[in-house]
Amino acid sequence: MATSLEQARELDAADPLAGFRERFAIGEDPVAYLDGNSLGRPPQATLDRLRELVEVEWSGGLIRSWSTGWAELPLRVGDLVGASVLGAAAGQTVVADSTSVNLYKALHAAAGLRGGRGELVVAQADFPTDRYLAKAVAEQRGLSVRELPGPGNGAGTEGVSADDVAAVLTESTAVVVLSHVDYRSGYLADLAGITATVHRAGALVVWDLSHSAGVVPIELDACGVDFAVGCTYKYLNAGPGAPAYVYVARRHLAAVEQPVPGWFGAEDVFAMGADYAPAPDARRMLSGTPNVLGLVAVEEGVRLVAGAGLDRLRAKACALTELAVELTDAWIVPLGGDLRTPRDPDVRGAHITVEVPDAQAVTNELIARGVVPDYRNPSMIRLGLSPLTTTFAEVWTGLDVLRAVLSKS
Ligand SMILES: *Cc1c(COP(=O)(O)O)cnc(C)c1O
Repeated sequence: MATSLEQARELDAADPLAGFRERFAIGEDPVAYLDGNSLGRPPQATLDRLRELVEVEWSGGLIRSWSTGWAELPLRVGDLVGASVLGAAAGQTVVADSTSVNLYKALHAAAGLRGGRGELVVAQADFPTDRYLAKAVAEQRGLSVRELPGPGNGAGTEGVSADDVAAVLTESTAVVVLSHVDYRSGYLADLAGITATVHRAGALVVWDLSHSAGVVPIELDACGVDFAVGCTYKYLNAGPGAPAYVYVARRHLAAVEQPVPGWFGAEDVFAMGADYAPAPDARRMLSGTPNVLGLVAVEEGVRLVAGAGLDRLRAKACALTELAVELTDAWIVPLGGDLRTPRDPDVRGAHITVEVPDAQAVTNELIARGVVPDYRNPSMIRLGLSPLTTTFAEVWTGLDVLRAVLSKS
């Protein structure tokens, strides 16, 4: 364990990914940014690319730029995300809309592929948007919702296991929707094992990868996943509100019907036909005009992830969370804090969560002292450690300041 700031700086000096931090626009303030899992930092290449987009492609090319590249971006960037982050062969991923909207489309589509089955399964404590949408889609399709207990429901569990899922599956289960990394505890679910379990029951799975994409190696094709969605503004550093991705396994594409059939998902976008016919490929998941500014930012962010490599990112994320866990045990637990994240790095994503008394007030004080964490209602402080940009020194400083705040010094 790095017990001094100097030791943490030595870890940074030996970090094989240290050079990547220089490729981001990073200032002096804050002293420790520990919220890259909510909003990643801006890559320098994105600043340059956006300027060029506005000055050359938009200002100069105007509407002509749609036919010289813009229209292809959702699929082209989707393929890049697939290849670099998701373990997905080309032609199955598009980048568009928000994670919430893509989840809505994927859940509808998945339920449609399992007509006749009456139940949709969602984790009781999953991210709010996932639960809201599961309930809404179930209502719209006349299904009932079965909730998986935990995590964070007071039952002491940190996440959903394959056995937990197996226990609720029945012949009526149409779709199971789950987060790969739990947004609160950081628990890393067994994507391969749960997918296989769901399939044995004849159901389909929709994975939300928002908190794992870019920090955990993912193999959607190899695991036989049906659908997946996730954010690009977290560990993929694409910027606030940048468009999300949706993956549909090739074997499902021809039969997939999504509920927002807009012109950009039609077989012939410019036919202006009387009736909608979906594109034969993954483009059918699109609805309206692509967000070009956001798409180029996704492309630049994902290029950096690809350059670093998921194995190295995963190794650094584990080392960062390991240091955070050790410092929490040494400094924060004796002051009344409680680690709410798995101790085993094999089942942990890239953030840790610490429960402290007066978490909202503590968070405000941390921010006032230049440490930016994430507050999660009602008593959790989440420290997101983004391996492309977070340093060991930031982790050390963040927990050192938390120790000072809790001990009122
Ligand atoms: C961040 C996050 C979202 C956010 O969805 P948006 O539509 O981008 O607001 C959804 N699901 C999970 C699990 C998340 O962590």
